Amino acid sequence: MTLLDTHTHLESFAQRGDLPAALARAAEAGVAEMIAIGTSSEDWPLYRNLAQEYAGRVHYTVGLHPCAVEAGWEKELAQIEGFWGDAGVKPVALGECGLDRFHLPKDDPARAAEIFAWQRAAFNAQLGIARRLACPLVVHSRGAFQECVEMIDESGVAWERVVFHCFTEGVAEMTELMRRGGYGSFTGVLTYKSAENVRAAALAQGLGRFMLETDAPYLTPMPHRGKPNEPAFLRHTAEFAAGVFGVNVTEIAEASTRKARAFFGI
Ligand SMILES: [Zn+2]
Ligand SMILES: [Zn+2]
Repeated sequence: MTLLDTHTHLESFAQRGDLPAALARAAEAGVAEMIAIGTSSEDWPLYRNLAQEYAGRVHYTVGLHPCAVEAGWEKELAQIEGFWGDAGVKPVALGECGLDRFHLPKDDPARAAEIFAWQRAAFNAQLGIARRLACPLVVHSRGAFQECVEMIDESGVAWERVVFHCFTEGVAEMTELMRRGGYGSFTGVLTYKSAENVRAAALAQGLGRFMLETDAPYLTPMPHRGKPNEPAFLRHTAEFAAGVFGVNVTEIAEASTRKARAFFGI
């Protein structure tokens, strides 16, 4: 069985010197490959190096996370296309990028509005880059689903290349993505008791379009919820998803890995 973690953040593992052990634990759990998702210029070079060092096991993306957008974001964005152009290992997607209302300052509406305007501008600029590169796009949307959809519609980016990662909306939103040809991928949230809408959305999308991710070190699946997440725990989400779809875990692994390979071109 080969599971592919389509969305993980490896920086904290690398900083702790735990990365080789975390990769070994992942391999033991059947998670043979993963995509390290870039969030700012602070992790992009690390992930490119890891993709080189662990060729075929670690892939990477480059993008400016909405929560990393601050004054001067243009300078960050100016570096992005270079990762596709120079001699190093190329990213498999642009992202994660998008809009995040959840982490805006709650006590200062004027400041929140200013930051959200930067987020929109940075997302729009990254949509332009994704269209030029014709590459897959990893979207982070929190409290801003409709706005993200509208901005992608207006951008001219091909929807078949778009995945809304950590999909936690419901069936109506999934239907909107599918109508356009886009995808949602699923984290350990799928295993949470209260996440009935998320399971319904996964079923609405169907096994043939299903993709898995950890978003480690966040969103730890049951039964490890409360501990830091890691790629090995994708196994738990896969086993849980097998129950949701009424198939065995091997079928989940085959379907989700096949879809992830096709989507990201790996
Ligand atoms: Zn995200
Ligand atoms: Zn993420």
